[in-house]
Amino acid sequence: MSKKRISVETLAIHGPRHGAAGPVSTPVVHSATFSFDSLDAMVEQQQLGAAGAFYQRVGHPTIRAVEERLAGLEGSEGALLFPSGMGAISSVFLALLRSGDHLVCVDPCYGGTQALLEWGKQRLGWDYTLVDARQPDTWEAAFRANTVVLHLETPINPTLVVFDIAEAAALGRRLGVKVTIDNTIASPLGQQPLALGCHLAMYSATKSLSGHSDILAGLVTGAWADLKPVQEVRKVFGPTPDPDMAFLLERSLKTMVMRVEKGNANALGLAERLQAHPAVAQVFYPGLASHAGHEIAARQMSFGFGPLLGFEVKGGAQTALRVVEALRLIQHGASLGGVESLCSLAAFTSHIMLGPEGRKRAGIPEGLIRVSAGCEGLEDLWADLEQALAASVREKG
Ligand code: PLP
Repeated sequence: MSKKRISVETLAIHGPRHGAAGPVSTPVVHSATFSFDSLDAMVEQQQLGAAGAFYQRVGHPTIRAVEERLAGLEGSEGALLFPSGMGAISSVFLALLRSGDHLVCVDPCYGGTQALLEWGKQRLGWDYTLVDARQPDTWEAAFRANTVVLHLETPINPTLVVFDIAEAAALGRRLGVKVTIDNTIASPLGQQPLALGCHLAMYSATKSLSGHSDILAGLVTGAWADLKPVQEVRKVFGPTPDPDMAFLLERSLKTMVMRVEKGNANALGLAERLQAHPAVAQVFYPGLASHAGHEIAARQMSFGFGPLLGFEVKGGAQTALRVVEALRLIQHGASLGGVESLCSLAAFTSHIMLGPEGRKRAGIPEGLIRVSAGCEGLEDLWADLEQALAASVREKG
């Protein structure tokens, strides 16, 4: 079988070494260091870097095997694992930005990324400009002579803003900067940003990649020429993953296609039903024809439109709070992409720092509830939402 024709379903289960005899799961090597018969053998492994078995912070076989499987899924030359999504994103920014450099970033983007950009501005002397993710036509004006990175994220939490990744990447390339993207919400199954022109894709693998809300993990994928400086940061600063985490991630990847398909289908099912519910003012989901980015998402996304949706309840923030507190099956918690459905309140948690005016500017209603659809039965999830909406309306009345 030629490598090209192998589907992501098969790659997710078998990894890049399909058909090879031996253990069907990657052995977990619990050794932080490795011994050698000769200096030559040691130097050889050391020089292999992340591909070697030398010292865990530099190269480790369990971590490497999972990175190769992840690169296969993304269709990238290489992949680097990190102990968290923020570990991955901060390592990329540290690799690409020096003091005096400037980055253009879509707004909104993940709150942790914004905090990192501000931290680096204060402490490391880089600068950044946020551009409205809903208006790509305005982005070019934000570029300066010292801009070196365009950082993207789409769909974006919590209103699931979608823009054309290929167009954004083409803009960055035309202006001679590195284009990075946080592809966490879509996952590498849902969207292939490297194929669309981005240099590096980053993930909180805590989300759909691992999918069970039991590990924290991060991932960067790309060509080795772009990954090498990131690998250097991992070696110098030391955010190296743990072999047990890598193993759990590999285990999760084997069921990823089924999980992502089911979560995405549940998200669409809930979005459609919420849209028709009298207590709901509006629904944000790229799979709905009513979503501003639907046409692009339909072109750009695969395996559905992602697990995340947002909906605004009539009655504002207090009604939204009552709905969330009345939910029984859908748990109130921060995260997404797990097999368990979760919900959260943007105005009270993830976007609290924006204040009412900032949320208004970003198009985030006060009564917005974010739901990450898991893999439970759709009817059970819907029954839970229906009873919570009914309870909150009763309480209000
Ligand atoms: N990017 C996005 C879109 C996220 O939602 C998150 C976490 O919620 C992160 C990055 C950070 O990932 P982690 O929590 O694994 O560090």
